[in-house]
Amino acid sequence: MTLVSALYAGIEAGGTKFNCVVGTDPFTILARERFATTTPSETLGRVKDFFLSQASEHGEFAGIGIGCFGPLDLNPGSNTYGYITATPKPHWSQTDIAGFFSSALDVPVSFDTDVNCAALGEYHCGAARGRPNFVYVTVGTGIGAGVFVDGKPLNGIAHTEFGHILVPRDPGDTFKGHCPFHTDCLSALACGPAIEARWGCKGHELPENHEAWDLQAHYLAIMCVNITLSYSPEIIILGGGVMDQAHLFPKIRRRFVELMNGYMIPDINPSDYIVPTGLQGASGEVGAMVMAVGG
Ligand code: ADP
Ligand code: ZN
Repeated sequence: MTLVSALYAGIEAGGTKFNCVVGTDPFTILARERFATTTPSETLGRVKDFFLSQASEHGEFAGIGIGCFGPLDLNPGSNTYGYITATPKPHWSQTDIAGFFSSALDVPVSFDTDVNCAALGEYHCGAARGRPNFVYVTVGTGIGAGVFVDGKPLNGIAHTEFGHILVPRDPGDTFKGHCPFHTDCLSALACGPAIEARWGCKGHELPENHEAWDLQAHYLAIMCVNITLSYSPEIIILGGGVMDQAHLFPKIRRRFVELMNGYMIPDINPSDYIVPTGLQGASGEVGAMVMAVGG
C-alpha cells in the first residue's frame, strides 16, 4: 500500500461510458479506468469496486467529483437531489448517483452535469482560464451548454438546457429534426445524430466541402448569437465530437458576424471569442477532479 496525503476520485459519467480517475489533484492522476454504461447496478457496482480497490492501495478518499449525463436533480433541498431524473437512456431514470457514491465511499460528493463539469475543467486550466464569465458548449450526441457566471455554473430551478432552445429553421431545410420533444430545437437540427440522419452518413465521413457544413455552421452561429445576446460571455468554447471538424470554426465565426450585423460588442475578435477547447478530451476528467478537491 502506498499512502498518499489526500486521495480524490472523479467520474465523467456519460451515456456510453463512465470514465473514472483517481489522483491527488487534477494534474496528478494515479489511475484511470473506463466502464461501459449498461445498467445502473452493473456499472455503478464496477465503478465502486474500482474505487475501493484504489482506496486499499493508496488510502481513503477525501472527496469525489461527478459530472453526469442528465437530466439531473441539482436542487439541494429536493428529496431526489443527486438523481438522474427522466432520461431517455433505458434503465437510468430515477437513479441516485450522488447518494450511491456517498454511501459506497463514505465521502463528500460534488455533483453536476457532465457539461458543467467539462466547463469547470476548461475554466480551471483550459480555454476559459482567467475568464469567469463564459459558456462552454458540447456538440455531440446532444448539444449541451455550461453557462458560467463569476466562475460558477448557472444552476437555477435546474441546470440550463441550451441545446433545446428553439431556432429559426433554414427556409430550405426540410429535415424532420432529431429531438423527441421539438422539431426545431438546436439539438433537433444540429447534434451529431441529426447530421447523420439528415445526410445519411456519419459526420466524420462527410468531406469538408459538403453543403452539410455550411448549414451546420449556420445553426451553430445562431446558437452563438443567442448565447452572446443572453449572457454576454467573455468567451464561447465549442467542444464535443462534431467540433473535431476544425474547419467549422471559421465558418461559424463568419456567419456569427453576419447574423450579429454590427449589433453589440463591435470590438471582439471572433477568432478569440468562439474557440475550441483548451484541454481536448480531458476537460471532463480535469473538471471532475477540481470538483472533488473543491468539495
Ligand atoms: P458524447 O456526446 O457521447 O459525449 P461525442 O462528443 O464524441 O460523444 O459526440 C458523438 C457524436 O459526434 C456522434 O453523433 C458522432 O457522429 C459525432 N462525431 C464524432 N466525431 C466526429 C467528427 N470527427 N466529425 C463529425 N462528427 C463527429
Ligand atoms: Zn429539443
